[in-house]
Amino acid sequence: MNEPALEQLLESEVAGAELFIGEVVVRRHANGGFELRHRDDSAAASLPEEVPPSRTIEIAKFDDAGKYRPLRTAPTLRRGWKVVASDTASLIAVLDALYPARLAVWRAWRLGRLATTPLRDTLNRQSGIYRAAARISDASLDELVRNFCRSDGGCLRTIFWRRDRTGEVASTKLPPEKFDPAHDQTGRGEKCIPLLCQEACGLLVSACAEAVKSGR
Ligand code: SF4
Repeated sequence: MNEPALEQLLESEVAGAELFIGEVVVRRHANGGFELRHRDDSAAASLPEEVPPSRTIEIAKFDDAGKYRPLRTAPTLRRGWKVVASDTASLIAVLDALYPARLAVWRAWRLGRLATTPLRDTLNRQSGIYRAAARISDASLDELVRNFCRSDGGCLRTIFWRRDRTGEVASTKLPPEKFDPAHDQTGRGEKCIPLLCQEACGLLVSACAEAVKSGR
């Protein structure tokens, strides 16, 4: 039997009235299209800005204060916009601009094919200015990962990677729900498509290297 395409999986998720992913709510229109907004704008009758799907990436780049967002899954998506996607292919493109590659990773997980990489493996393969990252101690990692990846102010992804090949948890200081794909990482308690983290991002690697260099 053929594996379901991303379009099919997403269609089944959005079959109800609303779909949540990260800080975004998706609503199906009667005409078959979709409307996307920030979840905090969910009830607003009108919004100041309708952004064409082709310009969605502009929404993702800067927060409400105009500050650049290097991490697209940080809980800092700006408000006050809506995007109308005409069909499922357009919806996928819009979500991909807001949360790059997260739908493909979600599909791989749904199909039982998501590979993860232990953090120590990611750090050990670094070269150049990030080579120092491999020397970070486990105690420092425990603290740094908690501060960097926490959902309340850091990142809304659900962590699937382990600290090392022995299977140590990424950080003992993060709550168990940080590793639970059924948990709404925004804290709103709604059923969401999870933003999964299968491998430490470059920003965390960079932070590890900085911590080593500064003696932390
Ligand atoms: S390592 Fe993953 S969970 Fe942590 S900040 Fe980077 S993307 Fe987010």
